[in-house]
Amino acid sequence: MKKRTFLKVSTIAAAGSIILPLGCTTETQNSEEKANKQSVVQEFTLPDLPYGFDALEPHIDKRTMEIHHGKHHAGYVRKLNAALKGQEQIAGKSLEEMMGAIGPEQTALRNNGGGHYNHSLFWKMMSPNKSEPKGDMLSVLKSAFGSYDEFKEEFANAAKTRFGSGWAWLATDQNNKPIVLSTPNQDNPLMGKIVGKTHYPLFGIDVWEHAYYLKYQNKRGDYINNFFDLINWEAVTKRYFDRVLKR
Ligand code: MN
Repeated sequence: MKKRTFLKVSTIAAAGSIILPLGCTTETQNSEEKANKQSVVQEFTLPDLPYGFDALEPHIDKRTMEIHHGKHHAGYVRKLNAALKGQEQIAGKSLEEMMGAIGPEQTALRNNGGGHYNHSLFWKMMSPNKSEPKGDMLSVLKSAFGSYDEFKEEFANAAKTRFGSGWAWLATDQNNKPIVLSTPNQDNPLMGKIVGKTHYPLFGIDVWEHAYYLKYQNKRGDYINNFFDLINWEAVTKRYFDRVLKR
């Protein structure tokens, strides 16, 4: 995840030592100490797409990609940064760590942090080049689902039956076993405090209407069936085995 970190240094304490009246020595020292600690504020940025806006045509059209990335995803990033102001405890975390720390009542962080995480992963795990799982990745899917086709059926079903807005996911459980699940709105499998159990997302499909409506209108099923041609199995395989090796 792209993240820009910069430092904010207060100069108030330095000025205060000059203007404070006698008897305020202790306060002056405290404020100087605070200033010297330098509060670290992180700001998230919109990642570039790893391909052109028209690269996923005909399955996802250029205009949808422009609006989805440039308006929707950009909006989540902007509102996430706004929501993090003054929340130093959570603002110091990586985006992935943040997902596990967010509680159900933290609406702005939940919706916009989730929105930023989910879309960043979504772009990376698609590719203009059609591929299929191979080798060890295929074996892992076969042992979990029976076959690649059975995985596709389960994933498509999760995406088609998600009522309203949300995502369907291929994720891994605590034993590195792949599972299919779905979450509402911008929640995701890393949000253990919200979805109940933490899973590690390998990729997801965005089934918000903004992801497909210009081209597909009410035909969510056609969008989902075409999505299988866009999965970047090389990237998914790397993500899976990086995860397994880390444990
Ligand atoms: Mn979206």
